[in-house]
Amino acid sequence: MKIAVIGAGPAGITAAYKLSGELKSGRISRLDVYEISAHIGGLSKSLEMWDQTVDLGPHRFFSHDPKINSLWLEVVEKDFDIVNRQTRIFYKNTFFDYPIQASNALKGLGFFQAVLCVFSYVWQLLFPYKKADTFESWVSNRFGKRLYRIFFKTYSEKLWGIPCDRLDSDFASQRIKKLSLFEAIKNALFQGNKNKHATLVDQFAYPLHGTGSVYEKMAEKIIANGGSIHLNTGVEKVITSGRTVTGLELNNGKSIEYDQIISSMPLSLLVTRLPETPYDIKELAQSLKFRNTVLVYLRIDKTDLFTDQWLYIHSADLKTGRITNFRNWVPDLYGNEKSSILCLEYWCNFEDPEWQLDDASYIALGTEEIIKTGLIGSGKVLDGKVVRIPRCYPVYFKGYKEKLKPIEEYLDTIKNLQVIGRYGAYKYNNQDHSILMGIMSAENIFSEKKNNLWNINTDYEVYQESSIITKTGLISTNP
Ligand SMILES: Cc1cc2nc3c(=O)[nH]c(=O)nc-3n(C[C@H](O)[C@H](O)[C@H](O)COP(=O)(O)OP(=O)(O)OC[C@H]3O[C@@H](n4cnc5c(N)ncnc54)[C@H](O)[C@@H]3O)c2cc1C
Repeated sequence: MKIAVIGAGPAGITAAYKLSGELKSGRISRLDVYEISAHIGGLSKSLEMWDQTVDLGPHRFFSHDPKINSLWLEVVEKDFDIVNRQTRIFYKNTFFDYPIQASNALKGLGFFQAVLCVFSYVWQLLFPYKKADTFESWVSNRFGKRLYRIFFKTYSEKLWGIPCDRLDSDFASQRIKKLSLFEAIKNALFQGNKNKHATLVDQFAYPLHGTGSVYEKMAEKIIANGGSIHLNTGVEKVITSGRTVTGLELNNGKSIEYDQIISSMPLSLLVTRLPETPYDIKELAQSLKFRNTVLVYLRIDKTDLFTDQWLYIHSADLKTGRITNFRNWVPDLYGNEKSSILCLEYWCNFEDPEWQLDDASYIALGTEEIIKTGLIGSGKVLDGKVVRIPRCYPVYFKGYKEKLKPIEEYLDTIKNLQVIGRYGAYKYNNQDHSILMGIMSAENIFSEKKNNLWNINTDYEVYQESSIITKTGLISTNP
């Protein structure tokens, strides 16, 4: 059996890592990973910058799933540390805990605002949105309109570029889950771990050499097992015959035959280039929207700027939405360097003038904004670099599910093709979701019982005992 994997991000590289064992057993005769860029790790790669290591914005790995955590530990071995998470919201020059803590939020807003927020919450309890299918209605029902406007609206609109009443509630239900003002107050009153909401996790495991080192290690193992990784080699299209996969066409003009293909290339590109796709499915695929990110890295001549790994910037007068401070992850990232690297995130669409802005203008904007926040005090910006990442956020606009469903159903009719990953399956995945998709797609190739990959990061729950990674290994988090 010849297998090709498209994309060397967490999803693709995990699938190939799991399959590579079968090269030795002889069940697979050829395993190739094609990666259009020059790097392993996709959006989760790490980069060397000014003699330090950085990620593409913040990259915290976290999962409760023993399957994902065991794989991560198997790969990372002992090369990780536990980081005490601190991530706050920066709003009107005040820091607020994130995830929101009731007493901290209400105290930070001042007595008058706090009273209005509580009234607004009670009002919403009495008169909730009947249909909480948009981000605005979903969050307002849980926090009240006033807290929604302060803590959710500006940030979400910066990120997604559309008003929150046109954003599907899926984004909120995946990321905020069961948290509400009521839950937050309950947590404040009963601080025991048992009452802590799932998103209130205050520690995480981080690889000593950057998040990308996990995927580089997997790549080494794939090659050691006899697989091949072809960097700078994009897949132009998947070739099918009678709705069965027969091979790939590469961007260097070559065509190669395969029996099974696992794809993490952007779903819209895969579908529009599939030879037999009906016109209406191609049209639906083209209507899916991805948001781009511009990362502005600034090197600051100080080492004690602020203590968070990253900050969410809710103030509407700042264009940046998030600021990462790589000094606060693990010391191995900066070694003996006596400067801090900050990363400011700007989000835009292809058609926006911001996507065309040159690097010098972005560095000037980042410098102006970081000084405006007051976060660097007397520190000076020594240098700047810009990294652009197209199509990195699949946009859950209102109605996206109706467009996605027929595409999923059509792809399910193509034999021996599996689609996985963040832009591969149009899912707002974190690394853990993409790793799980990789594991499950590999399992699907040999198992009779097929995992439904579309459910991951939607309906998928951890059925086994749930666990978290600690310095001494996995521990169960079941009561
Ligand atoms: C700014 C930012 C911050 C994030 N923070 C976190 C975080 O804190 N925690 C967390 O867990 N996750 C975080 N994520 C999400 C995480 O990066 C992704 O979930 C993860 O990288 C997705 O893996 P993937 O393999 O599905 O997709 P990707 O990482 O996008 O990998 C897909 C790969 O396919 C390649 N490819 C595309 N087209 C082709 C083609 N035609 N041929 C061959 N190769 C192709 C791409 O170059 C890429 O390498 C963040 C993402 C961003 C952008």
